[in-house]
Amino acid sequence: MSIATALMDQLTQIAQTQRVQRIVAVEVICGEMQQVVPDALHLAFEAVTAETIAAGATLTIVEQALAARCRACGAEFAPQIDDYLCPACGQADVELTAGRDIVLQSVVGETEDEATG
Ligand SMILES: [Zn+2]
Repeated sequence: MSIATALMDQLTQIAQTQRVQRIVAVEVICGEMQQVVPDALHLAFEAVTAETIAAGATLTIVEQALAARCRACGAEFAPQIDDYLCPACGQADVELTAGRDIVLQSVVGETEDEATG
């Protein structure tokens, strides 16, 4: 639920700065590390957006696998959660390059002009 709430906060801010009257579609990239359950997020999103400008908006969840780069040898690989050892040199000194965060990728909204027209 906290993810959906955070998303709603971002949507509210975007709506205010861009004068969006209604949000119709939202796309979110969910990093594997966040271990988001898409069905659960859909339900939570529906719940937190009810009665808001984003009510009824289409939520698209794009799952992003983990990717990492070894700081020791530079190898790039796809780690498992809780197993970040570099397959090339065995070091655990790796930098996660993808799949770590939840990112609000795109928002489609209707502005005041479109809504009245
Ligand atoms: Zn390495």
